[in-house]
Amino acid sequence: MKGTMDFADERHKGACIHCGAVLANVESNLDHVPSKSILDRPFPDNLPTIRICRSCNTSFSKDEEYFLAFLGSVLSGTTDPEQQVVERVEHTLSRNHRLQNEIEAQLQVVKGANGKDQVAFVPDISRIQNVVIKNARGHVLFEHGQPVTAEPRRVGIEPIPSLPTATLEAFEHIDYGAGWPEVGSRLMQRLITGEDLRSDGWVIVQPDVYRFAVMDNGQFVVRSVIREYLATEVVWEHS
Ligand SMILES: [Zn+2]
Repeated sequence: MKGTMDFADERHKGACIHCGAVLANVESNLDHVPSKSILDRPFPDNLPTIRICRSCNTSFSKDEEYFLAFLGSVLSGTTDPEQQVVERVEHTLSRNHRLQNEIEAQLQVVKGANGKDQVAFVPDISRIQNVVIKNARGHVLFEHGQPVTAEPRRVGIEPIPSLPTATLEAFEHIDYGAGWPEVGSRLMQRLITGEDLRSDGWVIVQPDVYRFAVMDNGQFVVRSVIREYLATEVVWEHS
């Protein structure tokens, strides 16, 4: 992933986009968009960064660790560190037994349609949502230069295998339509240069790990696909 210069309006960057704190008055950190902690090493070069307050950064770090460990356990069908398909999760679960126990308790064995036992996981949805909304906010700021500090109008998070075909097709269809981004924004640069932008409109951050799209159709619609398993959509009204 190559870097693109950020020509978007600087005046929106004085406050933490997550809590609204004035950054001049609090400790702050640079945070990657999307969060590095849900990607694989080696990380893509030149991931965008935004300055957020330290207190938000710290609280997101815990949720991100949970998010990836949970997702990894679902993809692996177990919380056993040695059976993890996501390499980072093996490390996390083997050193953090509290987290492993927590996820283990969210695992349920249910009867599948064929009468056989299947493993189902019931996540702490608020923590999953925190991570998804956080990254979506960062994407809107970066692609469109707009802070969306309000609560989203809608948050949808679904495993791709559970989506009906028509729903999945609609989700995968990215239409930038008439809502062209403002001149100088990153999305405009991507549309012009094609950088990281797949022909179907998705921006590939890390193949098979993270892709996203931000549409502005009178409202901001941010979609992501994480590990080609989790489909997310976050919608904000224009402020
Ligand atoms: Zn904050």
